[in-house]
Amino acid sequence: MTGLSEKIVLITGASSGIGEATVRELAAAGARLFIGARRSERLKALAQELGAQVDWRELDVTDPDSFGAFAEAAEARFGRIDVLVNNAGIMPLSPLAALKRDEWTRMIDVNIHGVLNGIAAVLPRFVARGNGHVVNVASVGAHLVLPTAAVYCATKYAVWAITEGLRQEHDDIRATIISPGVVATELGNDITDPQVAAALKDWRQKSLTPDAIARAIHYALAQPEGVDVNEVIVRPTAAN
Ligand code: NDP
Repeated sequence: MTGLSEKIVLITGASSGIGEATVRELAAAGARLFIGARRSERLKALAQELGAQVDWRELDVTDPDSFGAFAEAAEARFGRIDVLVNNAGIMPLSPLAALKRDEWTRMIDVNIHGVLNGIAAVLPRFVARGNGHVVNVASVGAHLVLPTAAVYCATKYAVWAITEGLRQEHDDIRATIISPGVVATELGNDITDPQVAAALKDWRQKSLTPDAIARAIHYALAQPEGVDVNEVIVRPTAAN
C-alpha cells in the first residue's frame, strides 16, 4: 500500500491487539508514530524494536490532562500532528440484570470519554491549520446490539455518532470510523461473568487477526487529502 512517510500519527491503545498491529503496519509504511497506553513497558519495548520513527508516552485516555500532555509531547517530538487514531477500548460484557455499574462506568469512560478527550486534544490544532484526520475505532457493535453487550454497543454507537458529527462539522478535517468484527486480541479478558467469558471464546472461533484492521486503517490514511474514507467495516469469513 501507499507509503505514509509524511505522516505523524498518534495511536492510543498501542500496547496490544489492533493498536500494536497498527503501529507495526504504519511504521512499515514509513509513518512517524507517537504511541500511548497505560502499560508503558509494552510501549517502550515496541518503540525500541521499531526504532527512532516510533516514540511513546504513558497515556490514560480517560484523563483529559494525560491526553493533553500526550498530544503536546507528540508535537514536541515530531513537530506536528497529522492523524489521531482513537483505538483504546475495553469490553467487560455482562447482562444488564447483573447491575455491574462499575464496569458500565469504566466502559463509558474509556470508550466514549477517551475518544472525546482525544478529539479535544487535537481538534484546536486541526482547526487552526485547516486539516487533520481523526480515526475512531468503533465496532460492528456500532450497528447491532447483542445480549450482554448493551452497554458496550451503546459506547460504540456513541463513537459512530461522534465521528459522524465531527465529519459534518468540519469539511477540512477527515473523520474515519473503523468497525471491526471479531478480532483475536486481549479484548474481553476482563469479563467477570464466567458464562459470558465462555461465550466470547465461542465467538472467537471465527476471528480476524489484528493486522486485518491495521490494513484498513492504513487504507484510510493513505488516501489523498481530498478523500475521506468515512467508514470501513471488516468482518471475518469462514476461511478463518
Ligand atoms: P486489546 O485489549 O488488545 O487492546 C485495547 C487497548 O486499549 C490496550 O492497548 C489497552 O492498553 C488500551 N486501553 C484500555 N484502557 C485504556 C486507558 N484508560 N487509557 C489508555 N489505553 C487504554 O483489544 P483490541 O485491540 O481488540 O481493541 C482495540 C479497539 O478495537 C477497541 O476500541 C475495541 O473496542 C475495538 N474492537 C475490537 C474488536 C475485537 O473483536 N477485538 C471488535 C470490534 C472493535 P493498556 O491496558 O496498556 O492501557
